[in-house]
Parts: sequence; structure tokens; C-alpha cells
Amino acid sequence: MVEVQVRVERELDRLAPVLDELGQRFAEAGHELHLVGGPVRDAMLGRSHHDLDFTTSARPEETEKLLRAWGDGGLWDMGRDFGTIGARRGEWVVEVTTYRSESYDPASRNPTVAFGDDLAGDLGRRDFTVNAMAVSLPGRSFEDPFGGIADLAHRVLRTPGRPEDSFGDDPLRMLRAARFAAQLGFDVAPEVVAAMTDMADRISIISAERVRDELVKLICAPYPRLGLTLLVETGLADLVLPELPALRLERDEHHRHKDVYEHTLTVLEQAIDLEPRLPGGGPDFVARFAALMHDVGKPKTRRFVADGTVTFHHHDVVGAKITAKRMKALRFSREETEAVCRLVELHLRFHGYGSGEWTDSAVRRYVRDAGAQLARLHVLTRADCTTRNQRKAERLRRTYDDLETRIADLSEAEELASIRPDLDGNQIMEILDLAPGREVGQAYAYLLEVRLDQGPLEHDAAEAALRAWWAERQASSESS
Ligand code: ATP
Ligand code: MG
Repeated sequence: MVEVQVRVERELDRLAPVLDELGQRFAEAGHELHLVGGPVRDAMLGRSHHDLDFTTSARPEETEKLLRAWGDGGLWDMGRDFGTIGARRGEWVVEVTTYRSESYDPASRNPTVAFGDDLAGDLGRRDFTVNAMAVSLPGRSFEDPFGGIADLAHRVLRTPGRPEDSFGDDPLRMLRAARFAAQLGFDVAPEVVAAMTDMADRISIISAERVRDELVKLICAPYPRLGLTLLVETGLADLVLPELPALRLERDEHHRHKDVYEHTLTVLEQAIDLEPRLPGGGPDFVARFAALMHDVGKPKTRRFVADGTVTFHHHDVVGAKITAKRMKALRFSREETEAVCRLVELHLRFHGYGSGEWTDSAVRRYVRDAGAQLARLHVLTRADCTTRNQRKAERLRRTYDDLETRIADLSEAEELASIRPDLDGNQIMEILDLAPGREVGQAYAYLLEVRLDQGPLEHDAAEAALRAWWAERQASSESS
């Protein structure tokens, strides 16, 4: 506890330039102001923020006036009805929200907001006790009406009131429990898990966008396994990401066979460990989500073969389709969806070539098909090895090292990432004396194939190949 106090004091000292001045300004105008939520919780955990959340007795119009006088980088409101005004000064970003006491329409997707009168009421409607602590300003008195500091010390998520009431008011909080478990590495209190299990189906009234945003935060957190396991065990995953629990394949009608599910969580964790290899480092949502979804085609493609083995033919292609459907339902952008699906679709490609027998053509195609996802495909393919056989794992690792070396060598020679045919559309039209149209596209596609198979060609050789293709095409269309 003493250690926590020291940490908080140190963080508050760092924040003093903002806290003291804002506290003063609000007090002089006759209003209460408190630092709340994430920054208070994280100060206790020894993590620092530049984004600060506050709650106040001031109504939004007043807040706006006070922040306008304080900030230097513009002002925004998060929908005036929500009572949140944001402002910036230098590197600091603050959001100040009027005390709330929400009233919920149980059938609606979003809370309807009513302003409250005091801090206690505002803290009481927050999601978890560790998020329901405040530092009152300018005096810095610490407010913790629901025992958040004890829960933080025990690393447990608990709701301020009864979890059934809290989740009934806003079912999204069930996902937030899993998200904070994943971010903080905390346990979720048993009565909270029980309420999540009983009330899981209520999540269906929440909009896909809000669900998506929590899932993204969960997956990008340091301990996604904790959050995902909770979603699966409470039944929430059946509603928000059913492909994941479906990986717990049954070996026969009596036995669950968790290999694919367990394998998937391990691949996700291994992908996270490999993120330093990505240009942007991590956390990388696309790489992580691809790791999570890479085998979702397995349940649908499973076949029992006569000799007692199991096959999953084309689970890569089927998995990419299933992934696209899920990401569309969750309103992910087209770019993100395409990136993840590309990875799922290509996750087996590396294994298709045996060991050490990659032709230059195969390497070019691998790079070309991965496109902008190549670095992530390296991570996914390396992560997708969970064998306990050390020698096998080592052999796969070496083979992949070789492939990356081959790619680097060929890239240097050929600029693989930007592979184009040796002749462009204009040159094709000139050589064959064609007007723009379908035939030019077909010629272009043919030359791209040649380029991938044979590597770069001199202009004359490319022209000869093009003319030969054209002549043959003309001949076969005449004969048919
Ligand atoms: P982060 O570091 O992700 O910003 P945070 O704790 O600040 O974490 P936010 O989602 O930004 O989380 O929410 C800010 C605060 O508002 C939370 O700490 C919590 O007290 C409260 N809060 C946010 N959403 C809800 C909700 N749906 N129900 C109840 N309280 C909420
Ligand atoms: Mg926040």
C-alpha cells in the first residue's frame, strides 16, 4: 500500500502542471473537478498517461469556457449530449465529463445520459471498482468509495454495485471485463464471471462497432489469452466471435478435443513474441487477429479418413471466407479485412513447397501474393508451429530462415515487392497494335506470369514472348 501511495504521488507530481491549474480554474468558477478512471488506476500501477479524464459538477457550456481559456490546441465535444469536452495543451490531452447518472432504456443499444449531482453518483455508475476511483482537485484528496484500491492490490475486477444491475444497464461492460483482464492481467471476481455467464445473450443489443472496439483492445492487450478464455468460458464468444469456441473440436461425440483451440491461443502468443520483427513493432492487430483466425476453416473442412486420420483440406481458403464474413459483421474496414483474410489464406503456402526446394518462381509468387502482408506472413507462419518435437521445430525455423534469405537475395536483384510485367499497357498496345480493352488486360496478365516464372526479361525478349503468345492466341481463335 505504501508503495502504491509513493507511485501515485510521483505520478501526480508529474501531472501537477495540468492538475493544479485546471483544478484552480474550475474551483474559482465554483465547480468541483476530479481526475478519474484510467489515469488514476494506471498511476497506481506505475503507468503514466498523457491523456487525462476528469469529471466535474460543471455543465458542458461551463466546461467549454474553462477549457477554452486553458488549452492551446482546439476544443472538441464528444457529442454535446454526452457531456464530454476535450482540449489539448502541448502534449497533454484532457477530456472533462459532467457528472453522470445514466438512465437506461433496457431495449436501446446505447445509454441515455442524464447529468448527475455528485461524485459518488458518478463513480457508482462506472464499470469496475478499479476504474471508480478519483483524485479531487486542486487539493488532491483521494476518493475510493467502492474499495478500488484493495481490488487493485488483489488484482481483481469487481463491479461497484451488483454485477447483474451493472450489466443490465450496459451489457458492453461484460466485454470490458474481458478487455481489462487482458490489459491488466487481472482476475475477474467469481460473481462477475457468473453474471457474465448468465447474461451473455444481452450482448446482442450492443452495436457491432462498440463490440468491435472492445475486441480490438482485448486482442491488442498484453494478455489476450486471459480475455479470450473468459469470453469462451462465459459463452460471450459464442455471440461475438463464435469461430473461436468452435475450434474446440469434438474427437467423437463424447470427447472434446481442444487441440485446435489450444493451438490457436499458442499461435497467437507466439505471434505476439515475434512482433518485434514487424516494421511497426507491435501490438499489431492484423497479425494477431490473423493468428487467431488462421484455422477457423478447420471445423467445416474436417474429414475422417478410413485409416483413422483426420484431414482439413482447403481450410485455408474456407477459413479466409469465414474470416471475411465475421469481420464484415463486426464492421471492420475493407483494408483490415482484406489484410487478415490474405494472411489466413496464405498461412499454409510455405508448407506446400517441401523443404529447401523452392524455385525462384515460387519465391516470387510468395512475395507477390503476400504483397503488403509479407512481414506479417513471416510472423504468422513462424508462429504456426506448436510441435513439441524440438528437432522438427528447429528444422521448420531453419527452412523459414532460408526462405527469408532467398527473398532478400531475390528482392535485391529484382525489387520483388513491385513486380510488374516487363512491358506496360502502352507498350503492349503499341506492339500488338491494339486499342484499350480486354485483350490488353489479358496480354498484361500473361506477361506477369512470364515475369513471375522467369524473372526480369530484356525488352526484346519480352516483346518476342508477347508476339508469340498473341500469334498462338490468334491461331487458336481461328481454328475454333
Ligand atoms: P483506456 O486506457 O483504454 O482509455 P480507460 O479506463 O480510460 O482505459 P475508457 O474506455 O477510456 O477506459 O473509459 C474511461 C472511464 O470511463 C473508465 O475508466 C470507466 O470508469 C468509465 N467507463 C467507460 N465506459 C464505461 C461503461 N460502458 N460503463 C461504465 N463505465 C464506463
Ligand atoms: Mg480512457
